[in-house]
Amino acid sequence: MAKSLYDGMRVKPGKKVHLGKWDPADTHGWDEEKAREKTAGNIEKIAGLQRVLAAQGERGMLIVLQAMDAGGKDGTIRNLARGLNPLGCRVAAFKAPTPEELSHDFLWRIHKVCPGRGEIVIFNRSHYEDVLVVRVRELVSRKVWSKRYARINEFEDLVASAGISIVKLYLHISKDEQKRRLEERLAEPKKHWKFNTSDLAERDRWDLYMEAYEAALSECSTKKAPWFIVPADEKWFRDLVVSEVVLKTLEDLDLRFPDPPPGLASVVVK
Ligand code: AMP
Ligand code: MG
Repeated sequence: MAKSLYDGMRVKPGKKVHLGKWDPADTHGWDEEKAREKTAGNIEKIAGLQRVLAAQGERGMLIVLQAMDAGGKDGTIRNLARGLNPLGCRVAAFKAPTPEELSHDFLWRIHKVCPGRGEIVIFNRSHYEDVLVVRVRELVSRKVWSKRYARINEFEDLVASAGISIVKLYLHISKDEQKRRLEERLAEPKKHWKFNTSDLAERDRWDLYMEAYEAALSECSTKKAPWFIVPADEKWFRDLVVSEVVLKTLEDLDLRFPDPPPGLASVVVK
């Protein structure tokens, strides 16, 4: 099953994505209880592999999360990070760039916080905002943003060539589900802090965002840094898919504990 969910959600390099063909409510025949059990098992295995990744110190992993507002990025991180050792794991969140960040190329602030060898880093939003909100809001000209897809591919190739595995997860929710979640935020005082009235202005541009996502997913899914389209209306299914993709990626690294120092067999601790 691990392989089929992984393969089923992966955007094949060069393939043109039409999001209308991807059902955000799809659960691929899974029932919730079984999915939760499987997810919990996956998270345990991920934690075990993280230990080896950190000990070996040769490979790292970058997990990029993108979604519309209320798409479930925070919940996904909470679920995934639960099993990880904070010593070898970081989350980096990207807001609108500061004046200093804007004075550099758009990848400057990203490169600085990429994982080193032995580390797992989760991006809550990413350099893809520079071809999403920036494109939709026309914060730079088409001439500028249209060149960024190729720049992103070159950049990710560079990062991958240093031993960092990259997976990119687009949490795909429907416009109706976003409405439900935003209404829930309005109705629940403990969620008010998450409600941002500017999210409504972005919601008004839903179709433009879908076009921008389609372009990013089509142009930037590569062998070394694939995109996955995660059906995310059902949170339990989203968490299952994310755990499957992360686990399979770590398994493919063929991680091993480093060889013990020579002579260890005869060492006695007195
Ligand atoms: P949140 O993730 O809810 O904290 O919101 C962060 C906000 O920062 C979102 O509205 C993003 O669209 C915005 N943002 C992130 N990266 C960029 C960027 N490169 N340019 C403009 N806005 C951005
Ligand atoms: Mg927000």
